[in-house]
Amino acid sequence: MELQQLAPDVHACLQEDKGLGYSNSGLIARGKGLVVDTFWDLPHTRAMIELYRGVWNREPGQLVNTHHNGDHCYGNQLFEGAEIIGHEGCAEALKNDDPARMQMLKGLGASGDPVLEDFARQLSPWDFEGIELRPPTTLVKERLQLDSCEFPIEVLYVGPAHTVGDVIVHLPEQRIVFTGDILFRRCTPIGWEGTFEQWVTALDRIMELDCDIVVPGHGPLCGNEGPREMKEYLQYVRSEARSHFDAERSAVEAAKRIDLGPYADWTEPERIVFSVERAYREFRGEPFDAPFNPIDTFRGVYELREAMAKPG
Ligand SMILES: [Zn+2]
Repeated sequence: MELQQLAPDVHACLQEDKGLGYSNSGLIARGKGLVVDTFWDLPHTRAMIELYRGVWNREPGQLVNTHHNGDHCYGNQLFEGAEIIGHEGCAEALKNDDPARMQMLKGLGASGDPVLEDFARQLSPWDFEGIELRPPTTLVKERLQLDSCEFPIEVLYVGPAHTVGDVIVHLPEQRIVFTGDILFRRCTPIGWEGTFEQWVTALDRIMELDCDIVVPGHGPLCGNEGPREMKEYLQYVRSEARSHFDAERSAVEAAKRIDLGPYADWTEPERIVFSVERAYREFRGEPFDAPFNPIDTFRGVYELREAMAKPG
């Protein structure tokens, strides 16, 4: 991971995207101080804190979680005393999360099931021991203006897009936005609870902010080309999925047939299965938060990756 200064007193802690869970974070080192998102486990979050201490040797007074996924919240407990801010949907979902389940899945490396073994391999850089969930207690509904860092900071609700409780953090004076997982940059997005329509609207909203620096939830820094390309990806996948759905093909079969074109060199292109399945749920008229078993989806992802690896 590396620290990058974005503006005076504004920093990002960026993790190179090496697969599941390599998320980004931000630090506003002014006034009470504010951190945007923690990492997927305590060791990675400690390493982030170490980098932040190098530029600001104080405890941040506030922490914003952009959404409830563990790779943005599992390190919360290390910000002892910080006010934790997030959408009410984020807080509710995080309360029902269970890091011990991830540790259990990580232990299935010799289970004999190739999908679970592969998943365990992807979890191997992470250590889910000792995580105590600390959900947000200051809840955002539509918009929250923060003034504890001596310049304006807006927390804006844009969900349900990637999840039920997506917020973005906007610094209008510095023209910087931290998008959480509304934006995956040059890596294939995964969506949980939400709709294509709302996700596209959220990306439009980011572009309308007209920032110079867009900090994605995963992947490198960018400008407005990041949300623009991601919007095009979502619209393309949804429209391709529609024709396969109408032809009554399975979601995995559809994913195999969709020509990835320019998106083939985004990392983990096989994760398109998540988007196709989400599109199928929408075509069937299911609610945006219809439960699904991610391990079943990872089976499809695994199958597609194997198929892509075969020559010809
Ligand atoms: Zn994430």
